[in-house]
Amino acid sequence: MKITKVDLIPVSTPLVKAFKMPGTNITHIHSLVLRIETDEGVVGVGDSGDTSSWYRGETQDSMAAMIRDHIAPRFLLGQDPFAIEKIVGQMDTFVRDNNQAKALVDFALHDLKGKAFGLPVYELLGGRTTDGSVQGWVAGAGSAEQLAAEARRALDAGFALVKIKSGGDQAADVRNVAAVRAEIGDDVRLVLDVNGFWNYDQALTTIRKLDAYGLYCIEQPLPHHDIEGLARLRERVGTPIFADESAQELHHLKEIIDRRAADGLFIKLQKAGGLVKAQRWLTMARLAGLPVMSGCMIGSGLEASPSAHLMMSNQWASQFTHENLGPLIINNQMENAEQVITEDIADNVPVFRDGVLYPNEGPGFGIELNQAFIDANRTPGKETVSLSADSSSTVLA
Ligand SMILES: [Mg+2]
Repeated sequence: MKITKVDLIPVSTPLVKAFKMPGTNITHIHSLVLRIETDEGVVGVGDSGDTSSWYRGETQDSMAAMIRDHIAPRFLLGQDPFAIEKIVGQMDTFVRDNNQAKALVDFALHDLKGKAFGLPVYELLGGRTTDGSVQGWVAGAGSAEQLAAEARRALDAGFALVKIKSGGDQAADVRNVAAVRAEIGDDVRLVLDVNGFWNYDQALTTIRKLDAYGLYCIEQPLPHHDIEGLARLRERVGTPIFADESAQELHHLKEIIDRRAADGLFIKLQKAGGLVKAQRWLTMARLAGLPVMSGCMIGSGLEASPSAHLMMSNQWASQFTHENLGPLIINNQMENAEQVITEDIADNVPVFRDGVLYPNEGPGFGIELNQAFIDANRTPGKETVSLSADSSSTVLA
């Protein structure tokens, strides 16, 4: 089987309610959908999820250009789609960074291989270790009262953990944590994600105050490059520190482990570079005995699927709580078993029920593209690109 065609489709999915984060107000998810077709008619699909300049530094345009100009002509067209490890190795050797683009390729190849063999992706990754992936809820920005009320609704909906985002004002962060802790009680796991926005002095002072609230962890209190700072900080506070933005490639994990710079690690597949690279990443976490949490870029049912399949099939990851909530955040709801989601890039959004995410059964990710939705939500002003093995790229409009 050979890859004969690659399509790159920019899609902008509107959010039912804008999701606020520090300095950011997300109204649309701007993602890139990749479709890979073979000479035997088998098709694999993937969705990049949202792009964010501060988290990944990649955009719809950067991913499309990298795949159009380098990855597709050199490593995909005319090649064997089952040789995923080989293609991932070629991408890493000849294309530096760009892990969200690489992850998108890895996702579509896994979907294609699953469809070719008639197996769900989780079967390719080792098989089921649990029925579903236990989820925590991530609250958007808001007042202390709003956050406490949202945390209460999340617990009532069955979520096992509550995460709030730092708003950039440390005094407000402490008030928010206090309010949510008072609402949910002492036994529910509560996380504060700082996304690297504090300096060392702010982190030390604030976390010493937060130590009283029994947080499950503080995520990425310092900028991504300051692994040494994380190690120093960790020795001076009581609250566990998790690394997210600092923990991308395996050499970052090695440095974090060698310096004892974190109590746990946070993974997004787009940061790690796809399913193949995420499995290596999780093996390092397992070796070091570090708990993991996983999240999403915020995206469709198709974007949520690779992580859903991996977090259920990887024994180390499956025992922890994750937050892979894209379709729920886009649609401003806390489950989709009763309130079915139809406005999505995926024709068949995986089900979230009582705070647990169940990956689709069926070959690959168990998803076909919802062509009517895609046609109605193509990113204005951006081109869909189609490349084939026997001709140069065609811009489709
Ligand atoms: Mg984070």
